[in-house]
Amino acid sequence: MVDVNDIRDINQTIFLHLIRERQPISRADIAKYTGLRAGTVSAIVNRLIKNNFVYEGTEGPSSGGRPPKHLFINAESIYVLAIDIGVSDTVFAVSDFNGRILQQKLLLTEGAPQNFLKKLAKEIENLISTQYSRAKFGAIGVSVPGLIDRETGTVETSPNLEWQNVPLRKILMEHLNLPIFVENDANAAAFSELWYGPLNEANIRTLLFILVVEGLGTGLIINGELHVGSRLGLGGFGHMSIDLNGELCSCGRRGCWETFASERATVERFHRVTAKQGLPFASLSEIISLANKNDEMALQSLKITAEYLGEGISNLAHGLYPETVVIGGNITAAWSIIEPIIKKRLKSRYIVSPNQITIRPASVQRPSLFGAIPIALQNCFNSSLKISKNSYKISVLT
Ligand SMILES: [Zn+2]
Repeated sequence: MVDVNDIRDINQTIFLHLIRERQPISRADIAKYTGLRAGTVSAIVNRLIKNNFVYEGTEGPSSGGRPPKHLFINAESIYVLAIDIGVSDTVFAVSDFNGRILQQKLLLTEGAPQNFLKKLAKEIENLISTQYSRAKFGAIGVSVPGLIDRETGTVETSPNLEWQNVPLRKILMEHLNLPIFVENDANAAAFSELWYGPLNEANIRTLLFILVVEGLGTGLIINGELHVGSRLGLGGFGHMSIDLNGELCSCGRRGCWETFASERATVERFHRVTAKQGLPFASLSEIISLANKNDEMALQSLKITAEYLGEGISNLAHGLYPETVVIGGNITAAWSIIEPIIKKRLKSRYIVSPNQITIRPASVQRPSLFGAIPIALQNCFNSSLKISKNSYKISVLT
């Protein structure tokens, strides 16, 4: 089974991202982008070549003399399946080794978890058996909100899904018979930035991802590693209390950040006022389009959420001082409204200029789905560790 350290080993993901985007690329250029030592780069590249994920050719720019060897992605080497279980809907997608989604399907997350997961597995099984070669698939990555036991693939508790002790991996395995890796949705979202984010962030040491969905979770990359705490994975700081007397949160405590800044909080804030006017319930995207037409109440709802997002980010930034803060979720469609407020909140005597910290929207539309792709790929790499166990420890950022 996957060791907790394996998920932290993100260098291979960053390397593949670099090679994919910049191929043909030399080892020297990878060292330049990542800031890693040449020996470390070679060890990781050799492992990727050995596993047939990358191949070496002689094409590419040469400055005379012996032409340098360049690296290419072996795009067809493996496919993975990504599953993103959300509170209202679940998406599953087939991705090739380039991280390109070939096909995706959506179904409603409904019913008892066991029944729902069986239905999901059958749909996936049907898709694989009718349209793909089963042997092509290396692994399945699953992204799910809540507290995950990474070793057993069990959802220990998910207040937003209302799931308790659901043996997710076991249920899916019964139908799919592929290695399955389960990760908290906010951690997966943070991972998506390593695979789809800007290349100039390849040497970022501290990245804080805020996933604003039904609930609110954070994923944290510190010193080039995904911070996962113990074997149990939870969505970080969404449940830090910012008001002792605040509203009751799904976790049972009061005044959590999630109760102020999540998508649900924004929608409910708007609804509390509009319900008095007899108006129907509006979704977040409807609220954003009303705000874009200068609807005062819609604007106000989003601005208050932005104030709380800014306040929470400010709390965390004072402790972590990340180079980059990424916000993901539907709320990013209102970026021009929320960004200036978040930046203003961040300013203090310690963080003099908000420009010291890059705050940007996520690189992909549904980061928890896209993050499940590198989670699965990551574990395809790790299944090869049995062969190259000795080189495993090398992939620690210097
Ligand atoms: Zn809470």
